[in-house]
Amino acid sequence: MALLSPVSLSHDPLPSPLVLPPRTVSLFNSQQIFGSKLKSGEIEHTLLRLSTTLRTSPGLAMKASREPPGLTQELRNSKLERVAETESGSDLFDNIKHRFLSFKKHKYMENLEHYEKLAKGQAPKFMVIACADSRVCPSAILGFQPGESFTVRNIANLVPPFEKGPSETNAALEFAVNTLEVENVLVIGHSCCGGIRALMSMEDEGDSSSFIRNWVVLGKHAKLKTKAAASNLSFDQQCKHCEKESINRSLRNLLTYPWIEEKVREGVLSLHGGYYDFVDCTFEKWTLDYDESSLKEEDEGISVKDQLFWC
Ligand SMILES: [Zn+2]
Repeated sequence: MALLSPVSLSHDPLPSPLVLPPRTVSLFNSQQIFGSKLKSGEIEHTLLRLSTTLRTSPGLAMKASREPPGLTQELRNSKLERVAETESGSDLFDNIKHRFLSFKKHKYMENLEHYEKLAKGQAPKFMVIACADSRVCPSAILGFQPGESFTVRNIANLVPPFEKGPSETNAALEFAVNTLEVENVLVIGHSCCGGIRALMSMEDEGDSSSFIRNWVVLGKHAKLKTKAAASNLSFDQQCKHCEKESINRSLRNLLTYPWIEEKVREGVLSLHGGYYDFVDCTFEKWTLDYDESSLKEEDEGISVKDQLFWC
């Protein structure tokens, strides 16, 4: 069993309307990427809580009233913002705390032996590469339990080719394949992927300083294939086509890593694609057919086998 120090490789961004990253928003419309809607309901909720706080905090109102009017208003706004942040954060983490304690009581303590084994090491059979989108957590939809899947999540679940050099995704791959010796790599794409939509809608010449743009452009082959094969379809349908095409491109890119290609050739590692459609809640799964795919030319795509459709 191989050990990895406890570094988080997967992030589900917490819904935090008060700390949106401003640079990301300005460089590229981040709502395009994660379909995030912020969320007039949440803002109203915060404002409502603010006025409640004012009514229930006479001390705050009295102290503010002794200051000059302009300053008073500023002070009041600043304090109210702090109170709102504190309360909002507190509620948020209260909720998280209860979820953690529930996990501890019902999962950890009831399977203590299993978790004691995990404390000594991990031997997952799966490496999963999924989108960072908050709606598509692989553990939630496929039921992966602690110890079952080594997971990395990035925008649009892309695998860069070997020649692109180091990234967090291929660092995770190297550890999973060479050290953990996983038997399966599963790349999971999904419906309504904002990263693929950004790829499909971006101009060839664009803001080269955008981190997002520089990442999703890894899917340019999938975009070109989609444009060639599905240009008669609507833009939404083209995006869906590209969501699946890019998974196959990532499977092909996996074969550009010599240590992956060798294990696939030896039959000790399998490469799989998955597509989660959360609009109608279906899941497609397929497996790269190495013998067939290895004969294909660069732009011909890959051959697949063992296609399944779960609905
Ligand atoms: Zn996505």
